[in-house]
Amino acid sequence: MDMEPPRIHRLDEAVVNRIAAGEVIQRPLSAVKELLENSLDAGSTSISVTLKDGGLKLIQVSDDGHGIRYEDLPILCERHTTSKLSKYEDLQSIKSMGFRGEALASMTYVGHVTVTTITEGQLHGYRATYRDGMMEHEAKPCAAVKGTQVMIENLFYNMTARRKTLQNSADDYPKIVDLICRFAIHHTSVSFSCRKHGATRADVHTVATSSSLDAVRLVYGVSVAQQLMIVEASDDDPSSSIFKMEGLISNCNYIAKKATVVLYINDRLVECGPLKRAIEIVYAATLPKASKPFIYLSIQLPPEHIDVNVHPTKREVSLLNQEVIIEKIHSVIESKLRNSNESRTFQEQR
Ligand code: ADP
Ligand code: MG
Repeated sequence: MDMEPPRIHRLDEAVVNRIAAGEVIQRPLSAVKELLENSLDAGSTSISVTLKDGGLKLIQVSDDGHGIRYEDLPILCERHTTSKLSKYEDLQSIKSMGFRGEALASMTYVGHVTVTTITEGQLHGYRATYRDGMMEHEAKPCAAVKGTQVMIENLFYNMTARRKTLQNSADDYPKIVDLICRFAIHHTSVSFSCRKHGATRADVHTVATSSSLDAVRLVYGVSVAQQLMIVEASDDDPSSSIFKMEGLISNCNYIAKKATVVLYINDRLVECGPLKRAIEIVYAATLPKASKPFIYLSIQLPPEHIDVNVHPTKREVSLLNQEVIIEKIHSVIESKLRNSNESRTFQEQR
């Protein structure tokens, strides 16, 4: 049977944008992560999160950062508008977590966004609402305290299947709490809190501390903090790669059913499957009872050695000399763990 070729046409921009938005904002958790990163990029020292219905009804993130200029509000939520990147080459040395100018825009294509902000020295702030990349009316003057508050209501109101799937599964609230804990142990000079809408008590509440170990104590409890050892490594052999690592790893007395691996590379919370597996193998091989570890590692690499632009959610990065780095971390953790295990065995025998 002869089949006539179907005509090819251009998709409406609104359709294109909504499809792209669904990739950047996959679930309430991804929206919260983007908003937290924006608050951190804005130099905030205090960030609080409020959620209703696991974020599907309401996500609200308030910070005390530098705020947004009145003149920038009209283009704030357009796609590809950013204050963080100007030319492609800047990506090589980017320090901020954001750079795509897509997060806020995406949120306006899949939810209703309201931004309230005030910059230093102003007597009042401004509030603006956004839909489909556009500011709906002129920004209205309003009372505001230092910083920015972003509110997203009815996430995925226009994506029926996504909304149903999310409504039918366990909500994102615990995942969001977990994410905030992970941020808190690295960004120790920032205080974070997270609560359900209407609740008087926060489920996470951290204050600025002087070390990650103190932050772990606050967030995960004394019993976890007690079982952690400090690890450090550096390597400035230019033939491999210049890297510095510091962190906390659980000792042989730590008991958990699930591994917690919190990994920062150049202050970016990322995932690295191969590294995670390498660490879990060390633990399984070194400790008699296959206890799952608690790991927090912060790795610094020359910015030109990492590619931050491999994933739309920026969750993964790719590293130059990944094998060398993993090998190095592997051996540092292994020797630390072996020493701690041997000293315990020694003590038990006495
Ligand atoms: P990106 O972070 O990639 O630049 P976003 O869409 O997340 O893109 O944000 C767009 C711009 O809005 C940012 O570049 C920043 O200038 C501004 N912005 C967003 N959130 C905040 C905030 N909480 N405080 C101050 N400025 C913000
Ligand atoms: Mg951003």
